[in-house]
Amino acid sequence: MEEASESFPLSREIVAGSKGRSSEIKRLLRSDLSEMTPYSSPQLVAKVRLNANESPFEPPAEWREAFLEAIAIVRFNRYPDRTAWELRAGLARLHKVLPEQVFCANGSNEVIQSLLLAYGGPGRSVAVFEPTYTMYERIARITFTEVVKGVRGEGFRVKPHLIDELLSRSSPSVVLLCSPNNPTGVPEDEETIVHLLEKAPGIVVVDEAYGQFSKWSALCLFGSHPNSERLAVVRTFSKTWAMAANRLGYLVGDEELITSLELVALPYHLDSVKQVAGALALEFRREMEVAVDAIIHEREYVQGRLASLPVEFWPSGANFILFRPLEYDSGTVWQRLLDRSVLVRDCSSWPGIDNCLRVTIGTREENDAFLQALADSL
Ligand code: PMP
Repeated sequence: MEEASESFPLSREIVAGSKGRSSEIKRLLRSDLSEMTPYSSPQLVAKVRLNANESPFEPPAEWREAFLEAIAIVRFNRYPDRTAWELRAGLARLHKVLPEQVFCANGSNEVIQSLLLAYGGPGRSVAVFEPTYTMYERIARITFTEVVKGVRGEGFRVKPHLIDELLSRSSPSVVLLCSPNNPTGVPEDEETIVHLLEKAPGIVVVDEAYGQFSKWSALCLFGSHPNSERLAVVRTFSKTWAMAANRLGYLVGDEELITSLELVALPYHLDSVKQVAGALALEFRREMEVAVDAIIHEREYVQGRLASLPVEFWPSGANFILFRPLEYDSGTVWQRLLDRSVLVRDCSSWPGIDNCLRVTIGTREENDAFLQALADSL
């Protein structure tokens, strides 16, 4: 086992992140950050990488061609269009809203950070339902926003009575709800989001990073629910659009809300290359949908095969599956998979999901390699 793990060296990023800080620099750092460690999700070398919920498919070849042509005429000596208008107009057409109702940033993490910069901050709180995406808490901390934690019920679902329980002890300025939820894969239903919109006092953010893998989207509440001016639906190009390298995310919301996010965004924060890449991607929507359907098909296949292994898993509405080995420690299984050149995410330290691993859905070949390695490891 030792021999095999040596052939998967830690990436430079991880080695750099593990370096200690000098005491002088530590003294100068914001005291609340001094005990924090950088975000970490091992980027290890493995033949089958199923750890970061990326798409196993490249964007369409026609997109690449069009993109290369378009960046050949970018005027690099000039700042980009500060309003990212063409990209926002494309997204507005996709979601049948106005460009003024779309805000774009460098990945949906930056969208969420902008939301907490504008609506969180000192003396304010953000509500999350654990277990959920760990960046929420991290972004809350760096924006001085207190985190209020709610619990999930059976099958990791957020039910109206659990929302009421949370709101009986806090009055959050922002609620962050991830649907389908990372890392459980469970989508929330309409009743839950509507309940939040009706009961929560602040902004209700539905993070739909994996939205297209699921049947229902909170986007349909715009215009149909009287409180939809407090709703913000966040999406990303990193998963379904197969463009994680491009760092592009966006939010659909009320015009006033978008204007307020522009108060905290840095000038020209979205470079021209990214704007072009995103706007062109939207012209290949059909191809994206075909890829999403293929991933959903694979997800059902992997779930079917997991059912005959000694693991517990939760039926997923996303492009990943959370599972718990029943007879072995998750760390041991994670290492055994890596020894077989399959990298998954170890979620065992996340709250409420001890001994769990998360596998991203890949191509049939990758999924079979994972299933075989898992069967061998169990
Ligand atoms: N939200 C959720 C739920 C995620 O899982 C991720 C990425 N893992 C993000 C947001 C951030 O994605 P990105 O910054 O790549 O858009």
